[in-house]
Amino acid sequence: MREIPALLPLVGADTQVPVLDGDWVTYANLDGAASTPALQSVADRVADVMPWYASVHRGAGYLSQVSTALYEEARTEIGAFVGAREGDLTIITRNTTDSINLLASVVPGKVLVIDVEHHANFLPWQNHPQGVTIVVGSPTVTATLDRIEAELEGEAYALVAVTGASNVTGESLPLDRVIAVAHEHGARVLVDGAQLLAHRRFSLAESDADYVAFSAHKLYAPYGAGALVGRRDWLDDGPAYLSGGGAVRQVQLRDTSWTDGPARHEGGTPNLVGAVALAAACRAIEALDTKTWHEHETALRDRLVSGLTSIEGVRIARLWVDSDEPVGVVTFTMEDAEPGYVAAYLSAEHGVGVRDGRFCAHPLLARLDLPLGAVRVSVGLGTTSEDVDRLIEGLRAFVNGQIKGDYRLVDGLWHLENDNRPLPEIDGLLALADTAGICAPD
Ligand code: PLP
Repeated sequence: MREIPALLPLVGADTQVPVLDGDWVTYANLDGAASTPALQSVADRVADVMPWYASVHRGAGYLSQVSTALYEEARTEIGAFVGAREGDLTIITRNTTDSINLLASVVPGKVLVIDVEHHANFLPWQNHPQGVTIVVGSPTVTATLDRIEAELEGEAYALVAVTGASNVTGESLPLDRVIAVAHEHGARVLVDGAQLLAHRRFSLAESDADYVAFSAHKLYAPYGAGALVGRRDWLDDGPAYLSGGGAVRQVQLRDTSWTDGPARHEGGTPNLVGAVALAAACRAIEALDTKTWHEHETALRDRLVSGLTSIEGVRIARLWVDSDEPVGVVTFTMEDAEPGYVAAYLSAEHGVGVRDGRFCAHPLLARLDLPLGAVRVSVGLGTTSEDVDRLIEGLRAFVNGQIKGDYRLVDGLWHLENDNRPLPEIDGLLALADTAGICAPD
């Protein structure tokens, strides 16, 4: 089979990790859907800017002026990347979760959400003061759209909050249809772009969506920023999201006049490095040739799916039987093997990083009848065919019983017993952590 190289260089692409037999192998990072490493160009941009770092919006010094200009230029670039229209606001946040919570704090009416969402696009709405309807997805796109339309016909909604790409399966509803039907019934649309933007072009102006939320750490710029971009009126009318310095015009002892625009919701010192990094990632992705980008991802995804389906007992999860081509995120289960076990084995014996658990999508995993979760593999700009092939070979060895280590479930997490893989030489690193974290099958 033909070799597929990485499309763009990522920091850490050659990082070696220890495996069970004492060897070190290049890490096969197939977990970009959780967090991507930085693009080399993003890290270079950050290094270039650091000598100029100073306070943003708060200083008369030359470096403050430089830093403020860099921050505002980054904002413009981030907005342009998602096709912000004239009058739209681009608010720099911490991540998608922050962006959606911000929007939730200003939405003036009832919200419609589908049960396929990541918790970040579910929990902010679950007890929304203006009310929420949770539409349970059906196994077909057509029937799911019908359910959404029926809800919108029956009642007035301010907002439909919908994923641009599922973090579980990479699928989405046809956004143009959701947006058209929502607008027809007077509702706005938020697209959760956390998974979408690392895989597909998206434009507010072209799609006619009203808001998009996304995270820099899923877009090759892991420096702590995210963004909410979209219509200005609700954001100017709603309460300041973070009370504090920078969000006000005038403060008296008992009364405050809040500013409008992005600053209203960006109280405290802005994350210059995060914004600059995100803008650099936007620039690098913008410069990709769309066809080459799509071919790279499709070739890797096809190779992954055909490899997985060739292994006995592997079942790939899908939300809809009739959805369009998913982005490069694939989730599967293996007969008679807990996902956490498979993931621990892949890491310890093959140097392959994947995600297991319920992916912060508990309602969806419950509906898909995956109470123990599943294993998720994701491909992106830094993925090579060697990464995918190593995963598939590892899984083949697993089903053939070629498992060298002993693995045990302790407090809900799978561990390699007598794990004596050496630690990398990083100052201050004392031990490996349990990585399954709070979204694990708890
Ligand atoms: N939405 C989707 C679809 C996601 O996959 C994620 C993260 O995995 C989020 C929202 C939340 O992103 P963050 O953790 O960066 O806030």
